[in-house]
Amino acid sequence: MEYKKGRVFLDPTLAHLKPKDRKEIYEEAIKTLVNLHSIDLKSIGFNNYEKKGMLVVTPSAFSKPAKKIYEIVKDVVYTDILPLEVDLMKYYDGPNKWIPHPKIEKIKDRMRKLGVWNLFISKHIDPEEKYGVGLTNVEYAHICELMGRSLFAPEVFNCQAPDTGNMEVLIKYGSEEQQSRWLVPLLNGDIKSCFAMTEPDVASSDATNIRESRQSMILVPMKATGVQIIRNLHVFGSQDAPSGHCEVLFTNVRIPVDNMILGEGRGFEIAQGRLGPGRIHHAMRLIGHAERSIEIMKERVTYRVTFGRKLEEFDSIRKEIALSRCEVEQARLLVLKAAHMIDTIGSKEARSEIAMIKVVAPNMTVRVVDRAIQILGGRGLTMDTPLSSFFIAARSLKLADGPDEVHLETIAKKELGKEREKSRL
Ligand SMILES: Cc1cc2nc3c(=O)[nH]c(=O)nc-3n(C[C@H](O)[C@H](O)[C@H](O)COP(=O)(O)OP(=O)(O)OC[C@H]3O[C@@H](n4cnc5c(N)ncnc54)[C@H](O)[C@@H]3O)c2cc1C
Repeated sequence: MEYKKGRVFLDPTLAHLKPKDRKEIYEEAIKTLVNLHSIDLKSIGFNNYEKKGMLVVTPSAFSKPAKKIYEIVKDVVYTDILPLEVDLMKYYDGPNKWIPHPKIEKIKDRMRKLGVWNLFISKHIDPEEKYGVGLTNVEYAHICELMGRSLFAPEVFNCQAPDTGNMEVLIKYGSEEQQSRWLVPLLNGDIKSCFAMTEPDVASSDATNIRESRQSMILVPMKATGVQIIRNLHVFGSQDAPSGHCEVLFTNVRIPVDNMILGEGRGFEIAQGRLGPGRIHHAMRLIGHAERSIEIMKERVTYRVTFGRKLEEFDSIRKEIALSRCEVEQARLLVLKAAHMIDTIGSKEARSEIAMIKVVAPNMTVRVVDRAIQILGGRGLTMDTPLSSFFIAARSLKLADGPDEVHLETIAKKELGKEREKSRL
């Protein structure tokens, strides 16, 4: 808010005052109002002051610092990352696929120096901004969506899975020693991490396998004796370089007892704490994949001609684009609602909404990307566009971090619980 001089009208409640005094009172009142609106809440100790009831649906309603970060991320994604994408896809299909591309490392270095870095560490887990930049989950949702425009973007802001979830675990549950040994280098982007919870011979969608305080979570250096990478699992034929999805064998691995996080038998508790925010980040990125797919469809239909007409003139094509727009907007609002609930009442209370977006976002993205692939014809299936990689990512997320059926059961339990409660009233 800024102060601007204007006319002061006659006010019958101050009729006894001279016009000059009345003008002075009004001007002082307006100046005070302007000052109140310009107070830096942090500087007066109101760190956690926020308008709890307000959901920021568009980035235009962001706070000034969040808006600045949003603009920088947008600029980097569109001017640095997207033009590089085709080269990156070729590179990560070649012999050096497990070595990060030097141009990505350069952009990453620039972002680290600029402080547009570790943006996923939201206020609700880091209220003192010790590790992150103090974004809310809602603000991060919009920014993460931008990163989702390209599979290569999250990395340059140190916002890539599974490092993000692992850093959150260490922030929430790590001892001081564990934090200095593992968290600090992860925060600096100097090391990489993975998360090994599921096993091929155990039905991993069934969490009872790790319930009843039977499992612990431990930090294992990849160099430890007995850790063996058996193979990288190709997903739909893709190696998903430079990260990959590996089968890892742990045989009689011995590590110091201090590498146990939080304490013996507390693995399930940590896993639950880890997956909540991780799930919402996946959903945010998927909205970005779907938005980009719409951008790609829209561009193609303006010039591709079949049967004497541009694709954009066919009703069936127009309907596919319109449906995609409707579905992306619906899913985004649900992601924002879940993020807002985490910000205001916490992940536990948002459990059902987190389960909803974990189901809605991948299914929506699979449909939208599939339409884009169809509209692009054969090219849509090649690596000339990011569509096939988006499809792999979205389809995988109907399974990874728990299959749809399990999340639907979480929602059903809550819904039916609610119904029973109501019928008892
Ligand atoms: C790309 C990718 C990356 C992954 N990354 C990791 C990782 O980094 N770390 C890690 O630990 N794991 C990882 N996973 C493993 C993933 O978490 C498991 O695959 C997932 O939890 C499902 O377990 P499962 O494969 O054992 O399926 P199962 O438990 O065998 O389930 C198979 C199917 O049974 C059905 N089903 C299961 N329960 C129910 C139910 N209650 N009602 C109805 N139907 C049901 C569902 O259709 C389900 O898909 C990854 C998986 C993929 C695909």
